[in-house]
Amino acid sequence: MIDTLPISAISLSPIGVIESDYPDKFGIPRQPGLAPAARASLILAPPFDDPLAVRGLEDFSHLWLTFLFHLSPDRSASRRWAPLVRPPRLGGNARVGVFASRSTHRPNRLGLSLVELVEIDTRRGVRLVLCGADLVSGTPVLDIKPYLPWAEARPEARAGFAPEAPSLLPVAFSAATAATLAERPDGDSLGELIIQVLAQDPRPAYRQGAEARIYGVRLRDVDVRFQAIATNEGMRIEVVEIVAA
Ligand code: SAM
Repeated sequence: MIDTLPISAISLSPIGVIESDYPDKFGIPRQPGLAPAARASLILAPPFDDPLAVRGLEDFSHLWLTFLFHLSPDRSASRRWAPLVRPPRLGGNARVGVFASRSTHRPNRLGLSLVELVEIDTRRGVRLVLCGADLVSGTPVLDIKPYLPWAEARPEARAGFAPEAPSLLPVAFSAATAATLAERPDGDSLGELIIQVLAQDPRPAYRQGAEARIYGVRLRDVDVRFQAIATNEGMRIEVVEIVAA
């Protein structure tokens, strides 16, 4: 029987930082792969930006990233961490244990995401081009591991209160926002990203009915304003304004 933990504190150095289409954490899908149009790069920092450190990684299509939820409160400091959290998937009311959740509010603020590797650029340091990441720009990354589908894919696994991907809402653009997108060189990919992000209905769980309120999500260099509208066919999201952030 171990009387005391052998380690009281661990110090880790980030190996790199994320630059992504998400300047802000509001609106980011709650797991990777839900918005495949989301672009991100992992820029390795010295001394980890040695191309030798990623030799062979180009033969893997997907990677696990371990990272720090750096925008979540650091509960190891003065505040006691909370053993129960309220997952948005349960409507924000029911509580489950923090270790039964993927909550961003957890003792060591560690996150884990499976992302697609698109390209490795070693022209200046090392930049991994990724898609579908659920990470805000500036997220410090602690480790990279290649994904092994034969060991890690478990389609038959039980997934508790989140047994399947969240349902999606239809997204429509007003004439003015469609025109704004048409004027941009990245209009097609930005439009795709907006649809994939807003289809998840990023509004807080307790506000998932129709309402007059207008919300804003920051994507790339714009603020995308949207509204939830009730129709005979059900709820839909309307993009009402796209303005420079
Ligand atoms: N796939 C990861 C996991 O399971 O550990 C993240 C899941 S977490 C529920 C996803 C949410 O984390 C996103 O919707 C976003 O709002 C938030 N997020 C992303 N990067 C963050 C960061 N660096 N700090 C705090 N929150 C972040």
